[in-house]
Amino acid sequence: MSAQETAVPEATASAADGPSLGERLQAFVGQSTGPPVRAWDPVNQPMIRHWVEAMGDHNPVYVDDAAAREAGFPGVIAPATMLQAWTMRGLRASEAADAARANRDLEGASPNDRLMAMLDEAGFTSVVATNCDQHYVRPLVPGDLLTCTSVIDSVSTEKATGLGTGHFVTQRLEYTDQNDELVATMLFRILKFRPRPRAEAAAPASASASASAPSASAPSPSAPSSSGSAPRPKRPRPALTQDNRFFFDGAKEHKLLIQRCSNCGTLRHPPRPSCAKCQSFEWGTVTASGRGTIYSFVVNHYPQVPAFDYPLVVALVELEEGTRLVANVADITPDSVSIGMPVIAGFETFDDDLTLPVFRPDPNASGSGGVATSGPGSPDERTS
Ligand code: ZN
Repeated sequence: MSAQETAVPEATASAADGPSLGERLQAFVGQSTGPPVRAWDPVNQPMIRHWVEAMGDHNPVYVDDAAAREAGFPGVIAPATMLQAWTMRGLRASEAADAARANRDLEGASPNDRLMAMLDEAGFTSVVATNCDQHYVRPLVPGDLLTCTSVIDSVSTEKATGLGTGHFVTQRLEYTDQNDELVATMLFRILKFRPRPRAEAAAPASASASASAPSASAPSPSAPSSSGSAPRPKRPRPALTQDNRFFFDGAKEHKLLIQRCSNCGTLRHPPRPSCAKCQSFEWGTVTASGRGTIYSFVVNHYPQVPAFDYPLVVALVELEEGTRLVANVADITPDSVSIGMPVIAGFETFDDDLTLPVFRPDPNASGSGGVATSGPGSPDERTS
């Protein structure tokens, strides 16, 4: 991802104040971010095996020596994208570094920690990773012992982005092997930014924040738009693809659609290109009845995104057709939601582009434990 940016003129610093923030930030460029990090272990087959299993990467060159040789390698190689895994400093060291940062303990802090602290103090308290570019010199093979060194490659001037104004900080990391030869480089870029005040949080500033929290399930009538306050932000957009567009188009027509394999008839959700059962890429849809039960749920209190009302009930609903989907549950207090509760889909139009299924307690399923409890356990096993 890449944050859109525009330059912000730097505040003019009066001479008496000493170096400007921009000048002090630039002084970090070229400095090492900390001592070199030596890998705990050489590149090894067990770690590779666990990685590819977790990633679902079935390329045999990572685990099968003969296959790797056939592909032109000297033997098994490590997946290139495992690069960072070899020199990770571990959970305890990461916790200690985080604690030191939180305590503003800059005694012996690395230049990178001091740079982050300087940005924090200037109000750029939030952070988001924006870019990671890796360049591989050669494949890593079992026995390679890596060392990672990193320098602060650049600190941008203040930029305005969609998240807020901030500074991009890029680290350049170099990975060398046991012979001090470069095997890979990585540019890692973050944005340290000043979070924009939330529209909701800003409006009732005079009220007690803690007192207003529990009753946020409806737009607050006590938040008048006296100062021409900004309109409510829209809900986040779904990332539409040619595989999932039908679902959102269907919702606009108040149809709850489920993807169905045209070859074997297996239903599947979330939408995806091919059938897990028969691997066919041919698919169509069926319209669900809308009846289902709550398979699991959470009640979201924080973080609060301005487009939503809180507390927010987010449920995994098992449809009577057998597939499950994540959706909000409305018209119910959070402490009344229960697993197995019969629900029925309705549709809520949030704006011109976004209509989504929203579930409510099913009034016709009262009494006998509800619907859909007789369906098969696995959503992908059921055919229609
Ligand atoms: Zn199929």
